[in-house]
Amino acid sequence: MASPLLINIIEMTRRAGTLKNIEITIPVSIFDFADKRLDEATEIEIALQLESINGGIVVHGTVTGQSHLLCGRCLRDIDYANVASIDEMYQRVPDNPDAYPIVGESLDLQPMVREMVLLSLPDTPLCKADCPGLCPQCGADLQSAPCGCQAQRFDERWAILDRLREELN
Ligand SMILES: [Zn+2]
Ligand SMILES: [Zn+2]
Repeated sequence: MASPLLINIIEMTRRAGTLKNIEITIPVSIFDFADKRLDEATEIEIALQLESINGGIVVHGTVTGQSHLLCGRCLRDIDYANVASIDEMYQRVPDNPDAYPIVGESLDLQPMVREMVLLSLPDTPLCKADCPGLCPQCGADLQSAPCGCQAQRFDERWAILDRLREELN
């Protein structure tokens, strides 16, 4: 089966400035991500506009997916909508190191979309911007309830000061 992301560009490349819109929703499984952050049961929404230029095609748009991440501070599960903003170039004779190659009469969007989806996943996801994380002392989830370690440390500091004061007297 031909990939739905293999786009025939014969017509487009006849004249610079020709536009083509690609709007498709395809299963994540097609990409073979082998990344458990991307739920194989979900789909990737692709909304791109292709425009022919001399010697190539520029691609703009967005690629949206659903991922399951773990909060970098408290390890809670997060359902995350990953959105990649696409601004890429395909060239028949690549002279731009960031350009993707045009092979034959078609443009294969799959490797580019795959790469962009992976790049759109955050390195340090947070369940919420001010997630307090886990207590470094007892490991309690501070978002659920304060654990008391903080207060204890505070008391210990006062106890040390009290002792010093007694020693000085
Ligand atoms: Zn968190
Ligand atoms: Zn604690």
